[in-house]
Amino acid sequence: MSKLIFFSGGVCSSLGKGLAASSLGALLESRGYHVRMIKCDPYINVDAGMQSPYQHGEIYVTDDGAETDLDLGNYARFTSGPLSQANSITTGQVYNSVISKEREGHYQGRCVQVIPHITDEIKARIAAVAEEDPQTEIAIVEIGGTVGDIESIPFLEAARQLIHESGRSNVISVHLTLIPEVGGEHKTKPTQHSVKAMQEMGIQPDILICRAPMLLDVPTREKISLFTNIEYEAVFTSVDVETTIYELPLTFYEQKLDLVVLKKLGLEPRSADIKPWVSVMDRVAAQKEKLRIAVVGKYMELHDAYKSVYEALFHGGLENGTEVELVKIDAAQLEEAEFADAIMGPHGLDGVVIPGGFGQRGSRGMILAAQWAREKKVPFLGICLGMHAMVIEWGRNVLGWTDADSMEFSPEGPHPVIEAAREGMRLGTYEAALKEGTRLARAYGEGTIKERHRHRYEFANRYRDQMAASGLVISALEPDLDLVESVEWPSQGEDPHPWGLGVQFHAEFKSRPTAASPLFRDFVAAARDTKAR
Ligand code: GLN
Repeated sequence: MSKLIFFSGGVCSSLGKGLAASSLGALLESRGYHVRMIKCDPYINVDAGMQSPYQHGEIYVTDDGAETDLDLGNYARFTSGPLSQANSITTGQVYNSVISKEREGHYQGRCVQVIPHITDEIKARIAAVAEEDPQTEIAIVEIGGTVGDIESIPFLEAARQLIHESGRSNVISVHLTLIPEVGGEHKTKPTQHSVKAMQEMGIQPDILICRAPMLLDVPTREKISLFTNIEYEAVFTSVDVETTIYELPLTFYEQKLDLVVLKKLGLEPRSADIKPWVSVMDRVAAQKEKLRIAVVGKYMELHDAYKSVYEALFHGGLENGTEVELVKIDAAQLEEAEFADAIMGPHGLDGVVIPGGFGQRGSRGMILAAQWAREKKVPFLGICLGMHAMVIEWGRNVLGWTDADSMEFSPEGPHPVIEAAREGMRLGTYEAALKEGTRLARAYGEGTIKERHRHRYEFANRYRDQMAASGLVISALEPDLDLVESVEWPSQGEDPHPWGLGVQFHAEFKSRPTAASPLFRDFVAAARDTKAR
């Protein structure tokens, strides 16, 4: 059986537990280990699909169409192990299956309880991920929430049992806490209490990671070690990184976090290849000019709501030697303006992105933003809803159908250029065949690609011929269902646009700092080239 690392957090939320767990995963992979990342979410939702982006940030979609917590996006950016529905365990799923089994008579008349039935189900799900791929050597299991929360108790109890059953050399506990600075002093008390809360759950953390503005000094580490029962060498700092989150693996590498973890798990310290992460930081340092890229969306207040899109833009910048400065524009604000140019114009924008989203609010603003980018010849990338805005705008302003719309916004409209998908929600990976010579084909350099989907509406095929005849380029089709996957503004002819693409899929989910999504890479390149012209 593979080794397990339980990753829990204390003191408060938002300490970067997902990033720390991902960074550890990255370091273990850099030493040649096959790592699987698992997220346990204590909420009762079965998955993140129904959650508002305002509540939990972006919904990350896996190849098999699971709608998961955004932490899986972090895992995907830092590590390379496959992620699917199985890697995202929620209280909702666990109870769902225990209750179904109970209805099917599986428990043979016994009283069904949190311990052992819920905890057994959690343990079985964790084991299933590791067993699914026999190559798995280490699974990192992140437990959402904070120790002391009522909701996380069954997950921590499952962890306790696994440590007890498999032994401390096979299953370890890594705990993340906060060291606040008060009056210029590092305060360790909240950390002491947090570890105590873990001990009350029956878990003695093996490794402690303290989030602090700077590396903890020796006396502070000694004090923490003494009071928490954790070896001095196993007390680490998660520093506030100055440049990007992608520095985190290197800061842990310098502190030898991975070596201590391997030692505790009784695993060989195979030689490390951290070149890819060093190269990311070299490229960050080498970024020259700055591009101003607008993201026109509807969930603008919360950075996490478009997390993967923002990250993919950053990755695209890295590959082009440019810094991407995000200009967040609320689409609803555009609707109120008399002219889109009044809002968009003064920003000095080098590119515009319209990300995915659901519901009518802000849609008119997105359509205006697409029109602005098309007419002003500003490089443009529309993702999912952004592609819909592009198609509607083309219908209204180029084909003259002033009532063109998506059925999502006007279900009975006379020109539904975007219509309801036949199969309801299209989720997960689909293939797209790219049309030769298009910007999309040039970006990917391949004839067929696989990207992920999450949408209920799509390009209405009955308008395809008219759209194409009027110059809109259909650059990709889903071969089995014959559905439009991508459209482009014409780059040749009388009125060429420098680079305008809309895609039905979410290319942002597969973008990594070490390998940017080709789509985002080329979009940023187009923004740079257009600016230079
Ligand atoms: N709301 C649109 C749809 O359901 C777009 C979805 C999205 O952008 N992910 O098709």
